Amino acid sequence: AESYEAVHAKVLENRELQGAGSGRSTRHLEIALPEGIAYHEGDHLGVLPCNRPELVDEVLRRFRLNGNDHLILKASGRSAAHLPLDRPVSLHDLLSHSVELQEAASRAQLRELAAYTVCPPHRKEPEAMLAEEVYKEQILSKRITMLDLLNQYEACELPFERFIELLPPLKPRYYSISSSPRVQPNQASITVGVVRGPALSGRGEYRGVASNHLAASDAGKDIVMFVRTPESGFQLPDDPQTPIIMVGPGTGVAPFRGFLQARSAMQQEGAKLGEAHLFFGCRSDEDYLYREELERFQQEGIVTLHCAFSRKADEAKTYVQHQMGQCGNELIAILDGGGRLYVCGDGSRMAPDVEASLEQAYAEAHGVDESKAKQWLDSLQKDGRYTKDVWAG
Ligand code: FAD
Repeated sequence: AESYEAVHAKVLENRELQGAGSGRSTRHLEIALPEGIAYHEGDHLGVLPCNRPELVDEVLRRFRLNGNDHLILKASGRSAAHLPLDRPVSLHDLLSHSVELQEAASRAQLRELAAYTVCPPHRKEPEAMLAEEVYKEQILSKRITMLDLLNQYEACELPFERFIELLPPLKPRYYSISSSPRVQPNQASITVGVVRGPALSGRGEYRGVASNHLAASDAGKDIVMFVRTPESGFQLPDDPQTPIIMVGPGTGVAPFRGFLQARSAMQQEGAKLGEAHLFFGCRSDEDYLYREELERFQQEGIVTLHCAFSRKADEAKTYVQHQMGQCGNELIAILDGGGRLYVCGDGSRMAPDVEASLEQAYAEAHGVDESKAKQWLDSLQKDGRYTKDVWAG
């Protein structure tokens, strides 16, 4: 926590944004910012999560240890900066706050596992998994963890201290702040898609560490957080008259809620606003996040909404890039006229699809080929007029 200058902050509100029939969960959290912590629209909130108690108990059971027992860790040759060294720490705290327990086992870890399996017939299996293809297929793609393997191979005598040392540090997770300090300077909200589903390993349910930790952080509880301004310059233009195009399906809408709150506050202060378009995407009405707020912003002239539904009954499957394609000429005119483009959310498929759709619109509007259209989008990015806030889904 010290290395991120993270602080404790109280959760003021934690509510569900999805309809009862959606089968998924997205949480809206309001967080009271401790004194001295400020933010801008478009900033990230870093969260230092905790491992779930059941998972911690599973480790303790495997090593036949008691969570209340303490140990003092000494630095060995390996990097151990993330571990609490040279002071007594309870096993429960160590396992809750310091290490990733749900990452796929690495080959180095497998090798150690095999080395600590004294009985030769038992050692064969983990050794066989070291082969590149077998490793990919049986461990990596199924996200089989060290703990899974230790539970499977009872004969492995890996010492607890070595287990801890081999695990990667528990990473902070980042969430795009979904509020504006102009509306609420002392609190920030985040919009958290809860990662939960049948585990790829085939064993029970997979639950993402931070999103489930946050989902379970009811009002009144503390989280450990810090604010970070992304280097990409994902911020509203200085001049409120600069037109903006925002593309944020799913939880990608988060920073744009902050942008729209800010525009609404500016309008109330008498500022003239340039046009703003928000391309939002969801499956159906059940997961149309912040629908009422967004529609209210539209009525107030803060934004023009374009919503793409991918699984709405009796409607063709539509994604944000299709909606953008339908008004391609208009979007290109806005960008040609000095407007700014923001894309937030899934960086693996959505962002490339959105870029392809815009490049196609540019090529058609200007009668140029694909490579010229690509150059145009690259130059928008270099000039800071196109910024992305994307992550791997
Ligand atoms: P983790 O414990 O990290 O687990 C996720 C991993 O598990 C992934 O590798 C995934 O492939 C894998 N996995 C998923 N399902 C399964 C399964 N069934 N079986 C096995 N493995 C599985 N998220 C938001 O919700 N809102 C935001 O506003 C937001 N903003 C972000 C901004 C930035 C700059 C970045 C980098 C990320 C952002 N994210 C946001 C993503 C967020 O940081 C987390 O990555 C996300 O919440 C998942 O974290 P987790 O700890 O819950 O899951």
